[in-house]
This record gives sequence, structure tokens and C-alpha cells, in this order.
Amino acid sequence: MLRQFVRRIHYSQRFYEAQVELTSVRYAGVKRGNYAQLSEKHVQQFERILPKERVLTDPSDVQSYNVDWLRMVRGASQVVLRPKTTEEVSAILQYCNEECLAVCPQGGNTGLVGGSVPVFDEVILSTSLMNNIIGLDELSGVLTCQAGCVLENLETYLSERGFMMPLDLGAKGTCQIGGNVSTNAGGIRLIRYGSLQGSILGVEAVKADGEVIDCLNSLKKDNTGYHLKHLFIGSEGTLGIVTKIAVHCPPSPKAVNVAFLGLEKFEDVLQTFQNARRDLGEILSSCEMMDRLSLDAAVTNLKLKQPIGDFPFYMLIETSGSNGIHDEEKLTSFLDNSLETGVVLDGTVASEPSKIKMFWSLREGVTEGLLQDGYVFKYDISLPHANFYSIVPELQARLSLNQVKRVCGYGHVGDGNLHLNITVPQYDSEVMKIVEPFVFEWTSKLKGSVSAEHGIGFKKTQYIHFSKSQSSLNLMTNIKQLMDPKGILNPYKVLPADH
Ligand SMILES: Cc1cc2nc3c(=O)[nH]c(=O)nc-3n(C[C@H](O)[C@H](O)[C@H](O)COP(=O)(O)OP(=O)(O)OC[C@H]3O[C@@H](n4cnc5c(N)ncnc54)[C@H](O)[C@@H]3O)c2cc1C
Repeated sequence: MLRQFVRRIHYSQRFYEAQVELTSVRYAGVKRGNYAQLSEKHVQQFERILPKERVLTDPSDVQSYNVDWLRMVRGASQVVLRPKTTEEVSAILQYCNEECLAVCPQGGNTGLVGGSVPVFDEVILSTSLMNNIIGLDELSGVLTCQAGCVLENLETYLSERGFMMPLDLGAKGTCQIGGNVSTNAGGIRLIRYGSLQGSILGVEAVKADGEVIDCLNSLKKDNTGYHLKHLFIGSEGTLGIVTKIAVHCPPSPKAVNVAFLGLEKFEDVLQTFQNARRDLGEILSSCEMMDRLSLDAAVTNLKLKQPIGDFPFYMLIETSGSNGIHDEEKLTSFLDNSLETGVVLDGTVASEPSKIKMFWSLREGVTEGLLQDGYVFKYDISLPHANFYSIVPELQARLSLNQVKRVCGYGHVGDGNLHLNITVPQYDSEVMKIVEPFVFEWTSKLKGSVSAEHGIGFKKTQYIHFSKSQSSLNLMTNIKQLMDPKGILNPYKVLPADH
């Protein structure tokens, strides 16, 4: 049987090579760790732990799990395991640890830093079938569920009960709450509801040796010792596999309004953000910006309708609250002032769900629209507001239009989080040399963060030192050593190679 699937793997690799280069080839400097090679004995044991149909070895079933959403990295795993319970995850990890088999945890595979797919031949553990909602406490607003629940499904479940998820992002139809927790995802509502480090009340996770760590607290306040859940929030599958979570969910707002604005200069974007914070106060729930080339990626490549004319910059400002009349009055007065002073040149407001959805599909469609240009060099950086956008014109000047299709910036301006994107027809190592490490050095000089919300994954390990001190990196290494001494969990990710 093994020989048969090895033969099929060769066929599959030839098929996929045409589309995405193997990570081990493109990043030839990365060396495979001293892990065991998958053998028939291992597959047989996996088939004892899980029913056979949840152990995927046919290359045509495995191949999509090996490639990331951005099609920038491709692993060569030969097996995907699809557990449904914590006990199954525990048994798998215990066995992999004994056998020294490396494991790559995978949720919705929408991560943008190459963390969710293997670098070499790691066993892929997919949480997609761990999708049970355990319950909602309607008094406290605490939702408990398995890690594989898709974010949008949780949102639908909650909205039917008068609640909402405290996070929202463009990948909500595919990403899973376990992936969101493991990347400490930010998204478009962080300005209002804060980061997941605050909303996640409890986590259940399985350590590399199979031990289940039960921190599935559902209390808002609990100061009993170390806050262990934080080890799993944002550690990108390197310290444990998240199996269940408890999240604090706010009530659904009674009124939501979204303004789509056109502006002349980036200084006006900053002024509008400041005005929005001051004039809209507690009802401000999102403050996003896009430059013209970013919006164009959604409009032209995804054929979406542009609601106002052409401007150098656009903003989406959302309010949500409990009193529609009060919220509308506030938003109208804010917009009147912005138009009168000339800070905003044009704008349109939506309060009906279909129009709101249309506005958001433009902002959320940018990521996908850019991908249609070919290959995307993607940077997700935190910068002080005063210097938020200056790297975009700087890179436009450094890169010639013969080399790239577009250099553009958009993002969560309210949180100081810029998504800087450079698109090219296909991967180009010359462009890469101009852009990296320049972007990270620039960010570091401004005391920004080289990863605002996407994480470090595989793509940024050699740049983490720009945002983490040596002493912090040493402590991270010690924690990793303690929790996963054989280093089987998501190797080559997060920590730099020399650690
Ligand atoms: C169109 C689009 C828009 C996006 N917008 C945003 C945004 O606004 N804000 C933002 O923060 N991100 C955004 N992202 C990135 C991505 O959606 C998030 O990082 C998301 O949280 C990943 O969830 P996932 O389930 O897809 O995880 P995956 O991509 O499968 O995995 C991400 C990382 O978490 C690990 N992991 C996954 N599940 C588990 C688990 N149960 N236990 C342990 N480790 C696990 C993986 O090994 C990997 O390292 C966007 C992506 C796309 C494609």
C-alpha cells in the first residue's frame, strides 16, 4: 500500500510543481529536522486511532492541504489526519511524539504567513471535523465550542440568539476559531472589542506529548496563578493544539451604519480617524482605509461595484449601537462636519444590511483581488499613525513598474495596522531582494511590529528579532523546550532557526 501511495505522490508533485514551487526548493536554506519519515507502520497506527476514512493518504486528497491560501508555500506531507475529538487529538500527538513524527496543525488554512502548511513532510492534523458548538450561556454571553468551528457559522449561531462574535475578518467563511485563537487574529472590529487575548476566556489544548491542558474557563475574572491560556493564544500551533475555546460574546447591536468615504490625502485619513474617535465615541466599531490601487484590486479583479467616484484614498467607518436614531444623528453630524471642512471629499452611508454587505465586500475583497494579479508579497505591519502610510510611496519609488503590477496599502488604520502589498505576475526573487529586509528594517526603525495580526508563521521567522528582544526570544525558546522537547509541533515556524 505504501509503495502505491508513494508512486501517486510523485505524480501529484509533478502536477502541483507547475503551480506552486515546493517550500524546500524555494527556501533551500531551511534544513529538515531529524524527524522520522512516515512509514506504513505509522499509517496503520493512525488507522487504529481514527476510522480509515479520516486518515487521508491519497495524494489527490492530500494535495490541497499542502498548499497555503496565498499559493506561496507548498509542503510535501503524505498524510492528513482528521480527528473529531480531543481524545483523538491526544492519542495522535502521543503517538507522533513517541515516534518523533513532526506535526503541522491546520484549521481553515487561510493564514497568510505560511504557518498552516508543512514545510517538508510533516503530518497534517486538520481540525475541520472538530466543529461542534458546545453551548451558549445567554446570561454571561459565553460561547463554548470546538476549535474547528468556522467563524461565520459561529456568527450565524450567535446572531440567531441576539449575540455576535467579538471578531470579524475577510476569511470568516473559511477560517476556524481554533486558527483565529492560534494566530491571535485581529480583524475589522478590534478597535471596538479589543484583541482575542481579552475575549477568549478559556482554552483547552493538547500538548505535544498528548497531555490535555484544561484551561477551559468561562469566567470573566480569574486570577489564580499564571494565565496559561495565553500560551496558546497566538503561538501558531507551536506549543499545543487548541481543541476547545470559551469566548465572551457581546450582544448584537440594534443599529449598524457604514459610511464609505473618498479622500484626497493620507493626512485627511488620519484627521478623519481622529474626528471619528472624538465625535462617534462609543459607537465607532470599525475604521478601515484603502488606497486607490487597493480598492481597484477588488473592483477590477473581482468585478465589484464602486459606490463613489475615484479618489486617492477611501475609508469605511462603521458605527454600531443600541439606539438607531441616536447613532444616525451622531454619524450625520460627523459626516456633515467632515464634508464642510473638506477633509472628506465625498461619501455615502448605508444602514440596510444588503448595502452594508456590499460596502464590506469591497474592503474584504481586496486581499482576494490582489491575489488575482499573480503573486503577492504581503506585509502586515504595525506603525505609529504619523508614519502609517509613508512606506507605500517609498516602495513605489524603489520598484519600477516593469518589475511589479502594483504597490498598495490598506488596513485597520484605527489600530495602526497597515497591510502593505506588492503584486507581481509570478514570484520574483529580484523584487524580494528589494523589499526584504527593507520593510522590516523600516518598521523596526519606527518601533513598529513586523507582524501586527497575521503572526510569524514560516515566512517571518528570520525577522522576528526586529520586534522581539533577545531575552524574549530566549524565554520563548525555553517555553517551547519545556512544552515540546522533541520539537514536533509545527517545526520551522515562529522561532528563528538558530533557536
Ligand atoms: C481574505 C483574508 C482576509 C484576512 N483578514 C484577516 C484579518 O483581518 N485579520 C487577521 O488577523 N487575519 C486575517 N487573515 C488571516 C487568517 O484568516 C487568520 O490568520 C486566521 O485567524 C487563520 O485561521 P485559520 O483557521 O485559517 O488557520 P490556519 O491558516 O489553518 O492556521 C494558522 C496558524 O494557526 C495554526 N493552527 C490552526 N488551527 C490550530 C489549532 N486548532 N491549534 C493550534 N494551532 C492551530 C496553524 O498551524 C498555523 O500556524 C485573512 C486571511 C484572508 C485569506
